[in-house]
Amino acid sequence: MPCFWYHFNHYSLSLGLFAMHKPALPLEGTDTFEDQIRIVLVETSHSGNIGAVARAMKNMGLGNLWLVNPNSFPDETSYARSAGASDILDRAQVVSSLEDALGDCSLVMGTSARGRKVPWPVIAPPEAAVAAAENAVNGPVALVFGRENHGLSNDELQRCHYHIHIPSNPDYSSLNLAMAVQVMCYELRMHHLRGLEGGEGSPYLKPMTAPGDPGWDVPPAPVNDVEGFFGHLEQVLVDVEFHRRDNPRQLMTRLRRLFQRARMDQMEINILRGVLTSVQKAVGTGDRAGDNSKSTEAEAKATGQEDGHV
Ligand code: SAH
Repeated sequence: MPCFWYHFNHYSLSLGLFAMHKPALPLEGTDTFEDQIRIVLVETSHSGNIGAVARAMKNMGLGNLWLVNPNSFPDETSYARSAGASDILDRAQVVSSLEDALGDCSLVMGTSARGRKVPWPVIAPPEAAVAAAENAVNGPVALVFGRENHGLSNDELQRCHYHIHIPSNPDYSSLNLAMAVQVMCYELRMHHLRGLEGGEGSPYLKPMTAPGDPGWDVPPAPVNDVEGFFGHLEQVLVDVEFHRRDNPRQLMTRLRRLFQRARMDQMEINILRGVLTSVQKAVGTGDRAGDNSKSTEAEAKATGQEDGHV
């Protein structure tokens, strides 16, 4: 067994491995919207939440944090909870009034779990992300988040163009502050990623579920190799007296359907053929294996035969 794994790994390296996902963002990743989107926290009571907000922002490629009269900042708890997003905390702007945080903004959206007596124009997170991205080209856009204990006041919400409501459980609608920030930053990032590659969207958004999809590490097996495997499989099933060519029923049809659903890659085919060869050796039919003679050099590598390890 150790031989098999040695050769398996050796083989995967020798294939050189194929297309990798390319990063959708610069590695520093704090400039999804060139810092034009400002996260504004109003009178946050728990400094740990400020750290958690910095982390949520940095994860999603945002970095522009403004704090209006925080109860305690900077402090150890905020840095501890930022889990390495300390650069966001280092450059956070601390101001003493909401007006100071919003003065130069082209668009302001306030977040709240609660409806108001006089409803303010309400927008859902995905649409808010679109509006933020569109306006960010004209100047700073602010997303405003309220206090942990009683959110944003009516006066504060009325300084906003829109009220963003995260459609949570109506019976339990209030998210933790940092989690509300996370939802919004995620929506912003998704919008950003969809717009990459000239509107094609980021490779990160494309599914990678089978050989041939961008990012899969081994190319799909060509038809000839798959057919070679089916021939070999049938021969082994005959060798072990599981299958009779004079009374085939639907066995090979059903096995074909099973394996074709898996859309095998080249390495998977080679491994399976190596397994079949080992079975034939074990039952002493290796020499008369019909299709076995077509085993590929790659199969030999995958199973270690080439170097005499099996
Ligand atoms: N108890 C407060 C909620 C505080 S939660 C209240 O009644 O308003 C802290 C902040 O997280 C809120 O001020 C808001 O900015 C944000 N938030 C929490 N849940 C939200 C939701 N469902 N939709 C939008 N923002 C939300």
